[in-house]
Amino acid sequence: SGGAQIIDGKLIAKQIHWSIAQEITTLKERHDKVPGLAVLIVGERKDSQTYVRMKRKACAEVGIKSFDVDLPATATEEEILDAVLALNANPEIQGILVQLPLPKHVNEQKILLAISIEKDVDGFHPLNIGNLTMKGREPLFSPCTPKGCIELLKESGIAIAGKRAVVVGRSNIVGMPVALMLNNRDATVTIVHSRTKNPEAIIREADIVIAAAGQPLMIKGDWIKPGAAVIDVGTNSVDDPSKKSGYRLVGDVDFEEVKKVAGFITPVPGGVGPMTIAMLLQNTLESAKRMFALEG
Ligand code: NDP
Repeated sequence: SGGAQIIDGKLIAKQIHWSIAQEITTLKERHDKVPGLAVLIVGERKDSQTYVRMKRKACAEVGIKSFDVDLPATATEEEILDAVLALNANPEIQGILVQLPLPKHVNEQKILLAISIEKDVDGFHPLNIGNLTMKGREPLFSPCTPKGCIELLKESGIAIAGKRAVVVGRSNIVGMPVALMLNNRDATVTIVHSRTKNPEAIIREADIVIAAAGQPLMIKGDWIKPGAAVIDVGTNSVDDPSKKSGYRLVGDVDFEEVKKVAGFITPVPGGVGPMTIAMLLQNTLESAKRMFALEG
């Protein structure tokens, strides 16, 4: 065969940004209001700062008003809670994102519980996650990276119902919610984690593989069923002296090997990465539409 079709997450995300921008223009005309997203960050972690900057920039590009809350690493749990409660009460804001991880002295669970579920555009409130796990229930929001994986499958015309799906990883933010979402779409889902014996035998049965283990190039060509769809969430930096930065990003999937066997594959970077922000903007727009409609 000619090798896998490369799923262009960057392009798909760009198209989603474009249609969100269109919808926001219409919404502005109809309600004379724009969606508002609060992005709250605590502390100075370099990676978190980068993600927050990207999210705020993306908001500006599509016409979402972003509300920036920057708290110092020394902020107390109470100060963060107060900030969240103020955002809950602000009628200009329909989405609240608390950038994780929070500093160690803060109880993350307590902060996430305080976010109004109607504004929980990250989908990490336990009530939203709980509804994701229950048959016949719909969460108000699904987490962005898992939602991005599903969207890439959908955009590529890959059916989910009745397929064997294997998710590698079971974290709260990627592995577990993506497994739940695939199950809700009638895939037969197996979760592989760090204690799984002989993971390659299980992965080899999959029609759909979602790799979210954070293990550079772990999944090899001979682990993949010919024609399978492989979505690589892994974003790992590995040393690369040939790069000016001294490093490069690689996925959990050995792209060069797997692309020869798979039917579809996402690159790293340029696959799942850009979809996470696109889904955040989409969740924020949905939230605003829901709230504006209620306000009349
Ligand atoms: P975590 O470290 O929280 O979770 C990793 C999961 O993978 C755990 O469940 C762990 O198992 C499992 N795991 C670890 N090693 C192995 C192994 N050798 N075989 C099978 N399973 C293994 O990571 P995250 O879920 O936060 O992130 C996963 C990857 O996705 C990372 O590379 C991260 O950078 C990337 N990412 C990308 C995003 C994006 O593109 N927008 C967003 C979020 C994450 P156990 O539970 O047993 O410990």
